[in-house]
Amino acid sequence: MNSRRDFLQKITASAFALPLLSSFKTEDHPYKPQPYEGPALRVAIMGLGSYGTRVAEAMQTCKYARVTGVISGTPSKIKDWQSRYTIPDKNCYNYENFDRIKSNPDIDAVYVITPNALHHDHVIRVAKAGKHVICEKPMAVNAREAQEMIDACKQANVKLLIGYRMHFEPKTLEVIRMRKNGEFGKILFFQGLSGFRIGDPTQWRLNRQLAGGGAMMDIGIYSINGSRYMVGEDPTWVTAQEIKTDPQKFKEGVDETIQFQLGFPSGAVASCLSTYSMSNLDRFFLDGEKGYAEMQPSTGYGPIKGRTHQGELTQPHITHQTIQMDEMAGIILQGKQPVVPVDGEEGLKDMKIIDAIYQAVQSGRKVDLKL
Ligand code: NDP
Repeated sequence: MNSRRDFLQKITASAFALPLLSSFKTEDHPYKPQPYEGPALRVAIMGLGSYGTRVAEAMQTCKYARVTGVISGTPSKIKDWQSRYTIPDKNCYNYENFDRIKSNPDIDAVYVITPNALHHDHVIRVAKAGKHVICEKPMAVNAREAQEMIDACKQANVKLLIGYRMHFEPKTLEVIRMRKNGEFGKILFFQGLSGFRIGDPTQWRLNRQLAGGGAMMDIGIYSINGSRYMVGEDPTWVTAQEIKTDPQKFKEGVDETIQFQLGFPSGAVASCLSTYSMSNLDRFFLDGEKGYAEMQPSTGYGPIKGRTHQGELTQPHITHQTIQMDEMAGIILQGKQPVVPVDGEEGLKDMKIIDAIYQAVQSGRKVDLKL
């Protein structure tokens, strides 16, 4: 461990890493911590909250990615993370001074894991500082913001990736492989159920200013994104209906429950539910002319469970954030192409669908989509 830390402090530039990563291969997994002293993606985590903590822990068994810095508004958390992950003072920032990361050669990328409505400003500032950006879902609170983030990253010539961890999950990838291989036949229907009962009414997830919406932004997005990678197409229309049982807790602009339907160019349809007031809702069902896949849980931290008309899905469980960060290191440092994209354009499509769902709820009409 110590030699890994010494190594980290010795590396000075990501340019150095590029030629040496040529041995990066997916088949290097599964994820047992393996000795590896080669170059890696050096990541600063921004927002040391519950998910940031999970990501950093999962990164301890990454082969190609390391936590080398932090950006936080809470000095006590910074101290704790510094001792836990051996992070030097010079790699610690707060929200006022993190633009200075520009001149820090120990950091290649920043992983933005702050409340949704802050992603836009945080991502654009990281891009302007010349660092690659990984941004949590939802990438923004609407499509306009998402587009501005993409533009800023393009202009700064840095990569923008969205934290779509399911795009690297082995059982999910097996269903996608089977669908591409025609094993389900023509796809006809997808059902996505995404929800949980939310607690503390004072948390940022129920504050429109910070969340940008309600359950749809937070959990419904899994059914939106899932419908696209399971069906293998982008929808061309949406209809949606909102149900609100507790207007005290779920104020104006914070959706509690929305049912929505998506139509795809092939004629396939999706029927989905997004909610903050029902538990045990984490299920995908894909139906085709020749077969089906069902996954439950489908997007939780796992293990994901599922079966198809051919039997149980038996691919191994791998900590989602570990494989995600190793694969993202390959994308950023080596230009590796993921099976399902995780770039800003992918995030933008989901934001356009969310905008259309809110519009359909307001108008009660079908909304056409151009993704
Ligand atoms: P938390 O509230 O647990 O953490 C958010 C952190 O952001 C805080 O701890 C704080 O860290 C920082 N922060 C900065 N400004 C604010 C502010 N004004 N209010 C509150 N926090 C602030 O949230 P999560 O970690 O659960 O969620 C963060 C992001 O990650 C969200 O976008 C969410 O959608 C996404 N997420 C993704 C998951 C996935 O599976 N892909 C799962 C869970 C969340 P500090 O004190 O260090 O500044």
